[in-house]
Amino acid sequence: MKVPFFRPAIGVRETEAVVECLQSGWLTTGERAREFELRFASFIGAKHAVAVNSCTAALHLALEAIGLKRGDLVFVPTFTFAATAEVVRYFDAVPVFVDSDPVSMCMDPQALASAIAAVQSGTAAAGKVAVRGTPRAVIPVHYAGQMADMAPIRSIAARHGLVVIGDAAHALPADYRENESSPWQSVGASADISCFSFYANKCITTGEGGMLVTDRDDWAERVRVMSLHGMSKDAYKRFMSGGSWYYEIVAPGFKYNLTDIAASIGLCQLDRVHELMDARREIAAYFSTNLSLVEELEVPLELQGRRHAWHLYAIRLRLSSLTIDRNQFIDKMIERGVAASVHWMPLHMHPYYRDSFGYAAGDFPVAAKVWSETISLPIFPGMTLEERAFVVRVVTDIAREHRRTVAA
Ligand SMILES: *Cc1c(COP(=O)(O)O)cnc(C)c1O
Repeated sequence: MKVPFFRPAIGVRETEAVVECLQSGWLTTGERAREFELRFASFIGAKHAVAVNSCTAALHLALEAIGLKRGDLVFVPTFTFAATAEVVRYFDAVPVFVDSDPVSMCMDPQALASAIAAVQSGTAAAGKVAVRGTPRAVIPVHYAGQMADMAPIRSIAARHGLVVIGDAAHALPADYRENESSPWQSVGASADISCFSFYANKCITTGEGGMLVTDRDDWAERVRVMSLHGMSKDAYKRFMSGGSWYYEIVAPGFKYNLTDIAASIGLCQLDRVHELMDARREIAAYFSTNLSLVEELEVPLELQGRRHAWHLYAIRLRLSSLTIDRNQFIDKMIERGVAASVHWMPLHMHPYYRDSFGYAAGDFPVAAKVWSETISLPIFPGMTLEERAFVVRVVTDIAREHRRTVAA
């Protein structure tokens, strides 16, 4: 048996919707993209949603809308995907890395506070390069589909005048509450701007795609204008409905609009968002029940006050109990037919950030340690019972076969 890392859940409806779109005579951004935005905004509980062609584009446009300038500072977890930090570099601004909470692996609010203090006191916060600049924003990532600890992050951000931009690429849907007496808050309502991904293996997919949501009228309008060549708002509308040849450019914008072909898939996937999440939840529960019996590893936890979207299911190896390392463990999984991945090598350890900012691996000890232990197992809605059982058996067997026996 072979279990892939992911298989997208594309049904008959998605296929029919694409064919209908192709036959409609309108392929690029139009009515379907608009409907996707409206339904997404209402689902997530935000005033505005702007559909774009990736989450990376959404993050870029978010920083543009808040007026990020060269040399400004943006606090970003080191334990994230490339996109979260590269968008800061697009402005020649500086991503100041922050370590993670060791349980959730989301940004540690305490570490955020320390990073802000370090920047303000002029001590080197970004590796060996002392950073000088205006702190402007913080981008918490809802790692694996579990929301970051937003209440303290928001209050620290408010104290320092930082805009909170949620990287919600993994978190559709996900909810958070500060404590048992506070109300549940949807992922879209927890930040000033939230950015979602519809990449092929994300919670819902359009092949490639993304969405930016916000309650702020001015930011939403700026994002919309900048997502299509900086065409003025009215020109954008007319142009998209094919209604006019005349437009005015108000700024040098980007080409980030989502096609109607993609949006037609997105509309079907949004209808299924809970079905897809329930399927992932069930697999996560099955993995946790079975793999928590394996002493050589730790299973991921759903924290109090969180509803986890389970985009990823990442175990951690107890390396002191094993005779093999993480890479060898993955090699053995692949030999036996189970695909695996790693999320992520922390950004400060990648050559570009390490060399540009002078970081050492140990500068962010939690992320550096977890990187050496973590393995993301396959988890996707269409995974059969046999495939789930096979994943559990392969992981359990490898752990048992390579257990480090303590000398008596
Ligand atoms: C996938 C991902 C992104 C980028 O999403 P795209 O839609 O591929 O641009 C950003 N942040 C995180 C945490 C991701 O996992």
